[in-house]
Amino acid sequence: MNIHEYQAKALLKEFGAPVSRGVPIFSADEARAAAEELGGPVWVVKSQIHAGGRGKGRFKEADSGEQGGVRLARSVDDVATYAAQMLGKTLVTHQTGPAGKVVNRLYIEDGSDIADEFYLSALVDRETSRIAFVVSTEGGMDIEAVAAETPEKIVTFSVDPATGFMPHHGRAIASALKLSGDPAKQVAKLGALLFKAFNDKDMSLLEINPLIRTKDDRIVCLDAKVGFDSNALGRHADILDLRDLTEEDDKEIEASKHDLSYIALDGTIGCMVNGAGLAMATMDIIKLYGEEPANFLDVGGGASKEKVTAAFKIITADDNVKGILINIFGGIMRCDVIAEGVVAAVKEVGLQVPLVVRLEGTNVDKGKAIIDGSGLNVISADDLDDAAQKIVKAVREAA
Ligand code: GDP
Ligand code: MG
Repeated sequence: MNIHEYQAKALLKEFGAPVSRGVPIFSADEARAAAEELGGPVWVVKSQIHAGGRGKGRFKEADSGEQGGVRLARSVDDVATYAAQMLGKTLVTHQTGPAGKVVNRLYIEDGSDIADEFYLSALVDRETSRIAFVVSTEGGMDIEAVAAETPEKIVTFSVDPATGFMPHHGRAIASALKLSGDPAKQVAKLGALLFKAFNDKDMSLLEINPLIRTKDDRIVCLDAKVGFDSNALGRHADILDLRDLTEEDDKEIEASKHDLSYIALDGTIGCMVNGAGLAMATMDIIKLYGEEPANFLDVGGGASKEKVTAAFKIITADDNVKGILINIFGGIMRCDVIAEGVVAAVKEVGLQVPLVVRLEGTNVDKGKAIIDGSGLNVISADDLDDAAQKIVKAVREAA
């Protein structure tokens, strides 16, 4: 789960991280009061969407002004003007995709006088099974580009959970950022508290880009992107409260209500599978035969007829889906339950695209009989290979 920049900053501030003062606003009317409260003389008006690259992004609407989603304002009037231009408009950045994201919230922040921009992040490193830090002098830029073009400018290290964050880790950050004196002490302290925040809140990613040194030598987190481990949200009610459903995919929200693991993808073949491993294999084999999956959907080990129906509805609600492949291995799950769910769902929502079903395992004959006896236009397949080839062929013929 992701949160907005202003929420991330409030959270990091609780741990003692240096952030600028700011006020989140939801309507243009609130902009002036927020700017007056902060006092200026420089403000930053920041679009709050769950995507980066806002500064370099552009709005779709012609009346949104020439600038991007992060704007420096030098008067209260400017703040009010920018707020009116940005709220309710669609911001396109390299992370939103061409459709962009509607800006429903702004963060009005005290402007900082920047001397240096750095990059600092923490993430779960699966290779070492530890929390790793990524540090670079190249802040405010796309870190992927830095990694590709000047990898020597990126320093990484991981923290042993048995020792926790040690003073030498703090010195490693300072040295990577070529800082000495008081700013070096400030980043070392920051590293320690970010590590604590990361652990305490079960984060999966914490990215400060840019981390800055101001002209008066203060270290400040100027941007903050935080993601949380969804599996740990059960013990963080405070974090769950920060969820902004308008930032999430409608189908993914609907799926989570039914306890389905669903991820929307860009392809044409909708998949309904039980078990994450089988879902991955199904996606791979679709690609092998030259098409792309439209989603990842795992109905789980013990799906009910209702769950299968909900899953089917979510898949068919996607306009990009030109064909559906249902691939079920009935272990705990019974093939006849799946078949009943599929038949019920097709009767309820109709079937506009080809559907291939491959069933194997417990009660497979009963399951096949239910589908064959339903009178529905379903193509049945014997194994994974056969199923993938059949759905790819059907989608291509229909195109
Ligand atoms: P992003 O584009 O979505 O990553 O948004 P950021 O919060 O990183 O802001 C983009 C850029 O705006 C930063 O890299 C800074 O160069 C600039 N910026 C943001 N806040 C300030 C500020 O307080 N003062 C100045 N001078 N520039 C700022
Ligand atoms: Mg940034």
